[in-house]
Amino acid sequence: MKKVLVLEDEANIRGFVVINLRRSGYEPIEASTGMEALEKWRVNPDICVALLDVMLPDIDGFEVCRRIRASGSKMGIIMLTAKSQEIDKVTGLMTGADDYVTKPFAIAELTARVDALVRRLGLEDDEKARVEITSGPFVLNTRNRTLEKNGQRLKLTQIEYMLVKLFMENPGKALSREEILAAVWGEDFRGELKTVDVNIRRLRIKIEADPTEPEFLTTVWGYGYKWGF
Ligand code: CA
Repeated sequence: MKKVLVLEDEANIRGFVVINLRRSGYEPIEASTGMEALEKWRVNPDICVALLDVMLPDIDGFEVCRRIRASGSKMGIIMLTAKSQEIDKVTGLMTGADDYVTKPFAIAELTARVDALVRRLGLEDDEKARVEITSGPFVLNTRNRTLEKNGQRLKLTQIEYMLVKLFMENPGKALSREEILAAVWGEDFRGELKTVDVNIRRLRIKIEADPTEPEFLTTVWGYGYKWGF
């Protein structure tokens, strides 16, 4: 069950939201102060959406939002603002909130916003995971077929791209030259195993700081190569 943090100091509003979230299939985590919310988040790092009231007895909802974002968390954040706090909406979105709902709100609207945000975050994560493979300083983008090292694009041939993709998909695994040849050039390729060595050598020149002392694409003597560091 997806956890939703409900930060609201007014007990009756909080209770009402909690009951309805539970009915919609969420696991609500309650907090009545900003500090309590941060503490609950610390023990529940898997909270996927936070509903943050702005006006609180201690630190305000924006501050809670700022602190969550400062940690690098990508959780969904919906600010609960009073109608008169138009300016707060702007501040809220600037501090990294994804959405806001003004009080008084219809509970159906609030749960619909939570559903939408959960869906959006889920899709984005899956999409990103499918498209990007990250390993150490490298990011391989399988949609653009590009490789970056420390944010710098490296120019690869299609063969080099397929090689690096094969390795990054199998981190730490020793791959035999036969396997590499079959995976990159195809089962029917009649070429020699030396083709693999030649292309690995070229690839190392592009990705390694010192190709003679490879750090990322290492040799497994008498067998093949390995992606690992
Ligand atoms: Ca309040």
